Amino acid sequence: MVGLADYHMHTPLCHHAEGHPREYVESAARRGLHEIGFACHSPMRTSFDDWRMAIEDLPNYLAMVDQARDHGRQLGVAVRLGLEIDYLPGHEPWIEELTSMAPWDYLIGSVHYLTTSLVVDHPDHLSQVQETYNPEEMWELYWQLYTQAIRTRAFDFMAHPDLPKKFGRVPQGDLTPYYQPSIAALQETNTAFEINTAGLRKPIGALYPSGEFLRLAHEAGISLVISSDAHAPAEVGADFDEASAAAREAGYGQLARFEARNRTLLDF
Ligand code: ZN
Ligand code: FE
Ligand code: FE
Ligand code: ZN
Repeated sequence: MVGLADYHMHTPLCHHAEGHPREYVESAARRGLHEIGFACHSPMRTSFDDWRMAIEDLPNYLAMVDQARDHGRQLGVAVRLGLEIDYLPGHEPWIEELTSMAPWDYLIGSVHYLTTSLVVDHPDHLSQVQETYNPEEMWELYWQLYTQAIRTRAFDFMAHPDLPKKFGRVPQGDLTPYYQPSIAALQETNTAFEINTAGLRKPIGALYPSGEFLRLAHEAGISLVISSDAHAPAEVGADFDEASAAAREAGYGQLARFEARNRTLLDF
């Protein structure tokens, strides 16, 4: 597991994850991970939905991660501080504010919202998403937002690139035209992205992103991390063997590490 770090893990503050960050550290130590980071769902200025931390909880979040860091010192696990930030058009000033609210080691950019009320990966929104967009329209809109998010340059790496495939809604044929604008944006802004193993635990049963996206990203020289998106301690480092194999198959020999928003690359 040398070279592998898991930077995408949640806390109970987002109301749909379980376990204290200390337990995630213990799980990481058992799995031989020497570095992890928390990246819970970002607060909004005012209440917005029921699956993110409240802005009032930000101090609790920072304290929890500090406790986990202390625990990690005893177990040989370095603990980093991150945040999974939702990108929505118009939220740029808020994202900028969030950036200065804590000594982040990295910020993850995510697109979950297709509109201000439709979440692409929420089971409760699935039927409305299906009624509103065919797979082609949904992918078109999602990748447009994903590219826009990358171009804010606010993020160190981007989360779960092909998330709209979660429930099996994938356009027919060649998908590279959907990927290309985001690949170009990642390259131009020097932003990294993740392989997220949560897709293996969802109806699609596949890593985010596809092998084709990984190959294009590697050809474009884009940096990579491997993440579990753990919402429970048992999910820390989940399926990292499969994700590592996919990364190698696409040509990757190094993964990105982040500290104080500086990126370094390490062989894995
Ligand atoms: Zn979540
Ligand atoms: Fe996410
Ligand atoms: Fe997440
Ligand atoms: Zn996520």
